[in-house]
Amino acid sequence: MVDRFFQPVSGMDLPRFAGVPSFMRLPHLGMDHPRIGDVQIGFVGLPWDGGVTNRSGARHGARQIRDLSTMVRAQHPVTGLRPFEAVNCADLGDVNPNPVDNGDTLRRFQDHFAGLRARGIRPIAVGGDHLCTLPILRALAADGPLGLVHFDSHTDLFPPYFGGSALTHGNPFRVAVEEGLLDPGRMVQIGIRGTMYDSADRDFARDHGIRIVTIEEMFDRGIPDVMAEAREIVGSGPAYLSYDIDFVDPSVAPGTGTPEWGGPNAYDAMCVVRECRGLNIVAADLVEVSPPLDPTGGTAWLAASLLFEILCVMVEAERKPTT
Ligand code: MN
Ligand code: MN
Repeated sequence: MVDRFFQPVSGMDLPRFAGVPSFMRLPHLGMDHPRIGDVQIGFVGLPWDGGVTNRSGARHGARQIRDLSTMVRAQHPVTGLRPFEAVNCADLGDVNPNPVDNGDTLRRFQDHFAGLRARGIRPIAVGGDHLCTLPILRALAADGPLGLVHFDSHTDLFPPYFGGSALTHGNPFRVAVEEGLLDPGRMVQIGIRGTMYDSADRDFARDHGIRIVTIEEMFDRGIPDVMAEAREIVGSGPAYLSYDIDFVDPSVAPGTGTPEWGGPNAYDAMCVVRECRGLNIVAADLVEVSPPLDPTGGTAWLAASLLFEILCVMVEAERKPTT
């Protein structure tokens, strides 16, 4: 039965440029809201880019994506799925970061996602830089390591930068594997490209059995073939979907700190998510949108469209009876 409270505001009732923006025009609920216990999938903003090693600005991503997501309508064009009528979805607001203390921020994020997990809410996090993924995984992998399908032009498996031990957006997945949060045998990283410092990340992947699909292989084999293999690798267990917007070619998604040429167009960027149907995606994120690098909002609009695709995959997973 459709819960009217959790329906997004329709552009047929209030023009899409009007009103206070929330993710997908959903109701905005604080954690103390009386209906928080009925939320099944929640969008969470992470306005923080303390892990960025080069061009910053992703701390502004969640707000711009929230604004542009008001363009999203209620029905999927291919499957006909109406996700908001199938599952109770909400905008759960932002997690408050400490922009001058990374350790404090990582703890705050982890605590928040642990609270969502305790309530049985499946989160879709909107970054923020890619280091945001690490505290989410720390909160959600408490019962055991998760599988991972990861779209990015970088592996983010790099050793610490700058001669120290600092966590950055270049190493969340390396740390997550080292901490036992991800099952390396159920990990696939797709779209990898760009010039390299060295092969340290590829060596780590090979040593741990992590599957890397370079952009060359993706284009050679085609998306359906590559994604069929990805589904096989990730399997039927609980899995996390992480989408770095720099997976997409910078000609269509220039608003990101570390762009790499030679990526997919916007259509292919959506198709790879559609090919995740059938996976048990328990949580997801979309990261690295940097509004100062694309004030037109085109990158954020693509991000919002990808979030709708991710939501639809997660709704189908949520509805599937667990055995
Ligand atoms: Mn990247
Ligand atoms: Mn990344």
